[in-house]
Amino acid sequence: QTKEKFVIFGNPVAHSKSPQMQNAGFEALDYDGVYEKHHLEDGTTIKTAFLENSYEGANITVPHKEFAYKNADEVRGLANKIQAVNTYINENGKIIAYNTDAPGFLKAIESFGEVKNVLLLGAGGTAKAIALALQEKGIKVTVLNRSAGKLEFFKNEGITSYSWDDFKAENYDLVVNSTSAGLKDEYLPCDKEILEPILEKASFAFDCVYGKITPFLALAKQNNCEIKDGEDMLLFQGVLAFEYFTKQNVGEDIVEAMRKGLKGE
Ligand code: NDP
Repeated sequence: QTKEKFVIFGNPVAHSKSPQMQNAGFEALDYDGVYEKHHLEDGTTIKTAFLENSYEGANITVPHKEFAYKNADEVRGLANKIQAVNTYINENGKIIAYNTDAPGFLKAIESFGEVKNVLLLGAGGTAKAIALALQEKGIKVTVLNRSAGKLEFFKNEGITSYSWDDFKAENYDLVVNSTSAGLKDEYLPCDKEILEPILEKASFAFDCVYGKITPFLALAKQNNCEIKDGEDMLLFQGVLAFEYFTKQNVGEDIVEAMRKGLKGE
């Protein structure tokens, strides 16, 4: 019997750690699955690429999450509002799509304890998932972005949102960086004059970037915030996708095997 095939679609995709994480899960569960990388140049071809290669499931990463949403046969859960998906499942030849970034983020911030009021920096695809996940949980969220162009989406969902030009700060217990500032460069996600007084009063800071102390997290730490990088978010979005792939809930042992896979241990 041949193994069930799973995949990550992206452009670029070479750097993705999802295969090592998902394959570690299959191995720990003794599941007959194999997970590979698929460089997809053109996001509009995602449906044919998925079906022609007989994949049972897929993850979708930058820049194809919106294409993946539009090309699914059925979208389930909060992904309908987010309008971007990172997980495909083949259900009898039909493509069912989910967004596991949103619940993955919520799981990642559980370690902070109770959070009531969040400032979310950035307004891209990741910010949409995070903002709607928080809103659904009844946690107050305010969006702050460099430019105003992407704020319409949040305003339509009843989420208070500002650009740097019209920002009115309140007190927040958690500040989240969902911008790509700090990924490859040494920029803060917004002016230090705006950010530092907010971090002084906040208790927690979270950066979606994985595996490094960004300038944002460094500043948060200087201001006595408890800090966390994007590792758990990446892990938990993967675990939730893995549960869809294998059609079962998994325990701590599998989660930890996947974490080790992710970290290359
Ligand atoms: P997008 O390209 O959709 O959005 C980028 C956002 O960052 C925009 O709001 C943009 O503002 C802002 N931005 C970019 N550069 C700067 C800068 N120098 N200063 C201030 N703001 C800036 O990206 P995504 O939402 O897809 O991803 C965002 C980050 O989240 C990435 O670093 C990605 O690696 C990470 N990520 C982590 C995940 C995890 O599991 N840990 C999952 C998904 C993403 P503007 O609108 O003004 O251009």
